[in-house]
Amino acid sequence: MSATEAAVTAALATVQDPELHQDLVSLGMIEEVAIDGGTVAVTVQLTTPACPMKAEIEADVVRALKALPEVERVDVSFTAQVRGTPQEALPGVKHVLAVGSGKGGVGKSTVAANLAAALAQDGAAVGLLDADIYGPSQAKMFSVEGQRLMADDEKRIIPLKRHGVKLITIANLVEDGQALTWRGPILHGTLTQLLQQTLWGRLDYLVVDLPPGTGDVQLSLGQLVTVSGMVLVTTPQDVALLDVRRAYTMARKTHIPVLGVIENMSWYELPDGSRDLIFGEGGAAAFAEREQLPLLGQIPITRGLRESADAGVPLVLSDPENPSAVALRRAARLLAGQVSVQALNTLPVV
Ligand code: ADP
Repeated sequence: MSATEAAVTAALATVQDPELHQDLVSLGMIEEVAIDGGTVAVTVQLTTPACPMKAEIEADVVRALKALPEVERVDVSFTAQVRGTPQEALPGVKHVLAVGSGKGGVGKSTVAANLAAALAQDGAAVGLLDADIYGPSQAKMFSVEGQRLMADDEKRIIPLKRHGVKLITIANLVEDGQALTWRGPILHGTLTQLLQQTLWGRLDYLVVDLPPGTGDVQLSLGQLVTVSGMVLVTTPQDVALLDVRRAYTMARKTHIPVLGVIENMSWYELPDGSRDLIFGEGGAAAFAEREQLPLLGQIPITRGLRESADAGVPLVLSDPENPSAVALRRAARLLAGQVSVQALNTLPVV
C-alpha cells in the first residue's frame, strides 16, 4: 500500500519554513512529489540557494512523511529559485543589497567581498558594485586591478567576472591612485550609469559596497533603485557603534530596510584557544538586540582574512574552513534568508 498524494500533501502542509513561518505547501515550495510503494521522493524549491535552514527543512519533511503509516523511506532533494519582489530593483536584478558601515576601517569591503563570493559559491547569480568612492578596494580583493571596463556597441558597460561574481568597481573607471573628490551631481550621474547601463544580466543579488558614513552615495542609491536591504558592518567597540547608529538612522530615513548587523574583528584566537577581545565585547549584539535586528555574524580576526583580501581571492573561496570564512558564509546564508523573508512580506496580499 502506498500513501495517497492527498495524504502526502496534507503531511507536507504541516511543515513550516522556519524563517518564513508558513507551510511549504502554501508557500509553493513543493516542486514535485513522486510516490513509489513505500518510498516518497519530494523536491523542495528553496527561496535561495544559500538557504540557512536546508538541513532543518529536510529533517522536518522526513519526520512529517514518516508519520504516515505507508511511508518507509523519504528522499528529499532541493532546487532553489530566489524570489524577487513585484517590482525588480533593476531589469533582471531581483535584489540590491547594500553593505554599509558607520566609519572606515571596520572591514566593510572585506565583508562585502566575502558575502558576494559566498552567495555565488552557494549557486546564486551575484553581482558586486563597488561604490566606495573614497576607498574602492574590490578591484584588489578580486584581483582585477588595472583592468579597464569595456562597453558594447550601445555603450552598455560589460562587468568584469571573477570568482563567480560579476563585478563593477569605480576603481576601474579612473586612473590608479587618482583622488576621488566626486560630489553631488557627478556622483549621482556615475552611480546611475554604473547601475543602469551595466549589462548585469540576470542576477539574484547585486551587492553594493557603500562608502562609510551616511553620505551622498547612499542617498543616491536609495533614489535610483529599490534596495531590498542593507547590512551594517561594525566592530564591537562603542565608538564604532555610535557611528553605526548614525548609519542605521540614515538607512531608516531613506526607507532602506536594515536586514542585520555583522560584527567584524570580534576576537583574536590565541594559541591556547582563548579569545583576545581586542576591540571589546558584546556591543554589536546589544545594538542589534535593542534595534531588533538580526546579528548575522561575529567574524573573528584572522591572518587568513587579511591575507586573502590582499591576495585577491575572497577567503570563503581560498580557505573555506578558516574560522572567519565559516562565520562569513553563515552570515551570507542568514542574510539570504532575511531577503527571502523581506520579499515574502512585500508581496501583495491576495
Ligand atoms: P573598510 O571597507 O571598512 O574600510 P576593509 O575591508 O578595507 O575595511 O578592511 C580594512 C583592513 O582590515 C584590510 O586590510 C582587511 O584585510 C583587514 N580586515 C578586515 N576584517 C578583518 C578580520 N576579521 N581579520 C583580519 N583582517 C581583517
